[in-house]
Amino acid sequence: MQNSLKIYVDRLSRERTEKIEETLTPELMDINEKDLKFQSSVKLEGKAYLAEDHLVIQLDVETEALIPCAICNKGLKKKITVKGFYHTEDLEKIRGHVYDYTNPLREAILLEVPSYVECLENCPKRTDLKNYLQKGNDQFPFADLN
Ligand SMILES: [Zn+2]
Repeated sequence: MQNSLKIYVDRLSRERTEKIEETLTPELMDINEKDLKFQSSVKLEGKAYLAEDHLVIQLDVETEALIPCAICNKGLKKKITVKGFYHTEDLEKIRGHVYDYTNPLREAILLEVPSYVECLENCPKRTDLKNYLQKGNDQFPFADLN
């Protein structure tokens, strides 16, 4: 497994499409925060080709993010998929005929990370929280007004 994603543009002729099929280590994501970690491999499938004066990369991506449950804070694995990642790059901007698309891919994956996760879509601790909130309401001094 490798850690960065490079397309060798000089190896792509006008007619050839390069098939991309890679499994990368989670270090690719370069994120290890309290509320977001990547510990599973990142799978890519797709192709790269030249179109006029652009390099085109099309991919389907699959990985898993580790995110804490919003209620009980337990770490949860969430499957992240990016369908039809599409990136173009001006050939003139690609230096040394090698294009590293790690950053745009990383950004596309991060966009798919849910901002809210909960155990089994319904955390068992949620009831505790509800009870707590209801109690809070009962104690609200103006609850009887209306
Ligand atoms: Zn939970």
